Amino acid sequence: MWSGGCDSTLILNDLAKNSSYQNPIYTVTILNRQIGGGKDQQKMESLARKEYLIYAKSKKYHIKNIKIKLECLNSQFSNDNQGLIQALIWICGVLPFLENDDELNFGYIRGDDFWHYKEYVINSINQSLKLKGASVKILFPLEWENKLEIITRLKSENIYKYTWYCENPINNKPCKECLKCKNINLVEYQIKKGRK
Ligand SMILES: [Zn+2]
Repeated sequence: MWSGGCDSTLILNDLAKNSSYQNPIYTVTILNRQIGGGKDQQKMESLARKEYLIYAKSKKYHIKNIKIKLECLNSQFSNDNQGLIQALIWICGVLPFLENDDELNFGYIRGDDFWHYKEYVINSINQSLKLKGASVKILFPLEWENKLEIITRLKSENIYKYTWYCENPINNKPCKECLKCKNINLVEYQIKKGRK
């Protein structure tokens, strides 16, 4: 699952290093304006993904990017900020693409709300895949990493510039006010101070 954010791009980059023409990495990006961030955030994430894919091509990585738009055409998906509706949308989008013995990677990191819902997500995927007779391995490679470790690794790989985090971009620049920006600013400060 690839949004173009810091966490999923780091996983993709790790996996892409072992990709080949015969064994490409498939990314699935779910586009939904009602739940997956606003129009401006989606535009910047899309740009970040495009730039990463150009970089990946220059490194001879083999990535196949699948984009799925999931929107209700004449009403809105319910989003009352309870539960983890984003995960529900992602699962609906990715399931039809999964085949037996695939490995499905999620970019959740230490401290994410996701961990309260982990069992539900795993059970939902496993049960749903019985409808197509498939079984997949669900992986969380960044489970124990925090944002400081993620950003440090993205910088050392020189791919931080191909990621996007801000929820409310202003003139294509991070707003510095949203929760994601504040989090990143804190991490940048920690990196500068050389603390962990
Ligand atoms: Zn922001």
